[in-house]
Amino acid sequence: MPYCPNCGYEYVKGITICPDCNFELAEGEPVYCFNCEELMVEKNIFCSHCGYVQSDFLKDDQDVMCEVHPKVEAMGICVICKKAVCSDCAVEKNSVLFCNDDSHIKVAQDWAVAFTTNTDYEAEMIKANLQGAGIPTMVFSQRDHAYFMIIGDMAVVNVMVPRDRLADAEEYLKKMDFFGDEADEDSE
Ligand SMILES: [Zn+2]
Ligand SMILES: [Zn+2]
Ligand SMILES: [Zn+2]
Ligand SMILES: [Zn+2]
Repeated sequence: MPYCPNCGYEYVKGITICPDCNFELAEGEPVYCFNCEELMVEKNIFCSHCGYVQSDFLKDDQDVMCEVHPKVEAMGICVICKKAVCSDCAVEKNSVLFCNDDSHIKVAQDWAVAFTTNTDYEAEMIKANLQGAGIPTMVFSQRDHAYFMIIGDMAVVNVMVPRDRLADAEEYLKKMDFFGDEADEDSE
């Protein structure tokens, strides 16, 4: 059954857009993280909510290695900087993985993702625009890391802003038309 990759709701055949979220429906069944049980937006090998590696989605010959200990398998990635961490390197807080840079736990509390893209170029462009508008901005990219070889085009680049500026940032991006028009879909 088609399902919405944003809210997880399943629809009957024939429906292609989720009326609640305006997301294009995906085929198959919604997939949930084995650790935090949140909906996985795509069959990404990392849960975007908690950072844990979803070993079910790895091919047989694929392994994600710790960035500090290249011989040790990673248990996941820091949800902020996307660095791969083994059980020795990981700092877990409320079942969410972080690297041992303790500023990243603070970032998780005080900053929010304003925009997600698959290209560093677009992320940097948005960062420049937001900073130009006086909104502090940080970019964290999966493309900087060794496992990028495995995930390729699924790599996400997050543009983050302080939580209390999130509304400003979204407003600004909407005006810049980075989100596109919510009502109409990209051309078929
Ligand atoms: Zn939905
Ligand atoms: Zn998870
Ligand atoms: Zn980190
Ligand atoms: Zn390690």
